[in-house]
Amino acid sequence: MARHIAPQPGIMEIALYQGGAAHVAGRSDAVKLSSNENPFGPSDKAREAVIRAAHNLHRYPNTDHASLRAAIGEVHGLDPDRIICGVGSDEIIHFLCQAYAGPGDEVLFTEHGFLMYRISAHAAGATPVQVRERDRVTDIDALIAGATDNTRLIFVANPNNPTGTMVGLADLERLARAVPQAIVVVDAAYAEYVDEYDGGAELATRLPNVVMTRTFSKIYGLGGLRVGWGYGPRAIIDVLNRIRGPFNLSTAAMEGAEAAVRDRDHVDRCRAENARMRAWLAEALMEKGVPTDTSCANFILARFADQATAEACDEALKAEGLIVRRVGGYGLPNCLRITIGDEASRRRVAPWPSGCSRPPAPVRMAGPRNERDRRLASP
Ligand SMILES: *Cc1c(COP(=O)(O)O)cnc(C)c1O
Repeated sequence: MARHIAPQPGIMEIALYQGGAAHVAGRSDAVKLSSNENPFGPSDKAREAVIRAAHNLHRYPNTDHASLRAAIGEVHGLDPDRIICGVGSDEIIHFLCQAYAGPGDEVLFTEHGFLMYRISAHAAGATPVQVRERDRVTDIDALIAGATDNTRLIFVANPNNPTGTMVGLADLERLARAVPQAIVVVDAAYAEYVDEYDGGAELATRLPNVVMTRTFSKIYGLGGLRVGWGYGPRAIIDVLNRIRGPFNLSTAAMEGAEAAVRDRDHVDRCRAENARMRAWLAEALMEKGVPTDTSCANFILARFADQATAEACDEALKAEGLIVRRVGGYGLPNCLRITIGDEASRRRVAPWPSGCSRPPAPVRMAGPRNERDRRLASP
């Protein structure tokens, strides 16, 4: 008789990731505001670099990403030897879990934290543990209280997706110092949207247990190219490089990303335009009685009285060809996440279909999901 063929523990716990929808049946003018993409796309220089790379598709890429790491190091003032590049920052998150967490180990993150942390923890056979937030903001005390001797990794998206909120660097330092047994990962995918914020780079330079992750998928407008990077203590980066596939990034990806990181003008223009559109959209929503938290990123989390209202609004927006993101999977069933688009799309979102304007009742957040969370939620 054939033996039962089973995967490693944890893998069947993974719920398949649902990407943001891209189309509305019967509409050619649909606007995708569901994946936090840059509506302006990448720098022209990045586009040209990718096209140039097409002339050398028969060559293997270089394995050490030296040129891209040098460019990132130069632009951000960081030591390139402490940088690792990956297939999106998702791959860096994955490397961290694979390298540092296994069966019996815990991977901590917050209630409305990015879904990849849970997926990567399960993929490594580790136990994902979620702690509550305080009114949709990362609660450092809850993370400290939730950490045990078995905690190996703590992921904090800062700003967080899908809430758009963030905590200060002093709070992140307090967390890192309180949990010397764990690596604190500052996921700074949206750092470029925040003025005067280094994404945790200085902390990752100074402390032995802080790693910062960054991406080319958001403000750089290169989500389709799949490039991200991590920065941290030399010893940790060395470990991650040992499990990195030698050819994880294609030549086109490396050269496109290098051109993108060097084009500071494009980043500055996108940051300024995002801030302008975001303020405008937040105000328009407020006027319609739809509250939002102050967002530090390129999306806004619109809050409704209940799940039924949020879903009715999603349907009404879809009927207008506007695709936003339901975030029930993030424990926010009464909210919709709306990516900040360009001016044309904002004009289409802001009138806000009539089905959406029921006055909002006070918002009650979804409670803890299980016993363990309940315990962590009330230390
Ligand atoms: C979009 C996003 C990422 C980036 O993912 P990539 O794999 O780099 O495309 C990472 N973290 C958060 C919180 C995000 O929202």
